[in-house]
Order: sequence, then C-alpha cells, then structure tokens
Amino acid sequence: MAAGFAGGCLCGAVRFACSADPAMVGHCHCIDCRKSSGTGHCTHVVVPRAAFAVTGRLTTYARPADSGNLVTRAFCPTCGSPIYSTNAAMPDLVFPRASSLDDPEAIKPQMVVYASRAPSWDVVDPALPSFATMPAPGEVAAAMAQAR
Ligand SMILES: [Zn+2]
Ligand SMILES: [Zn+2]
Repeated sequence: MAAGFAGGCLCGAVRFACSADPAMVGHCHCIDCRKSSGTGHCTHVVVPRAAFAVTGRLTTYARPADSGNLVTRAFCPTCGSPIYSTNAAMPDLVFPRASSLDDPEAIKPQMVVYASRAPSWDVVDPALPSFATMPAPGEVAAAMAQAR
C-alpha cells in the first residue's frame, strides 16, 4: 500500500490528503479534546506539515493548552466536523483527527495522554502506554520504542 492517507469532513466540503504515514497516533483525554470531540477524547494523528494538503474552507478556534502553547483547531463551518489541529510550539507538524479519515484502519493508536481525565465510561486501552497528563518528549520516545 502506498504511504499516506486521506480524509475529509461529513459534508464533503473539506478534503485533505497526507503523503506521509503518521509519525505518531495518540488518544488525548484533556478537557479541550473532550469538549470538542463529541465523546471522551480526541484521537490525533501526527504528520509533517509539508506532507499535508487540505482543500475547502475551514473555520478555526485557537485556545492555549495546559502548556500555554496556542492550539488551533480547524473544522468545517458547514457540518462542524473537526479536521485537524496545530500547536504553536510544533510549527512543522499537523494533527489531523482520526475521526476524519476515509479509512479509520489506516492508523493505529500508540499512546494515551491525559488519561487521568478520562471519564469512567471512556475506557483507556490498557494495552497502550498511557500518561496521566502530557508526557515529556523523552517519555514519548520511550513509549514509541515500546509500542514498536
Ligand atoms: Zn463539512
Ligand atoms: Zn487534548
């Protein structure tokens, strides 16, 4: 199978293609992700910005994360589907939402962050490395090595 994946919003006005496979995939149970998700968490795919191309009009909402870094969430203004987010501290990366993929099996979650904020009914996968809040970059690298 060729590298990469594609996706879009519910109404079809927004489409994207990514020419690279995900660098990482993780579930986030932070409050902002829960509030914007429709359920208990978001599943974020991490890809290089240079490999990500989006078409269609998006509306964005920017809000600082716990870290203080500005996180911008982009969504379809017509159907409201979340498409991707960006983080001011990681300008070379884009975080498309797993929910927007055409083929959700194109990705495989590798870790869970902000697991301490997961509602009791949104069960954290015990098979994945999980972190109570946002792990330090070194902890992420260790978890990635473990997940391979
Ligand atoms: Zn739409
Ligand atoms: Zn989050």
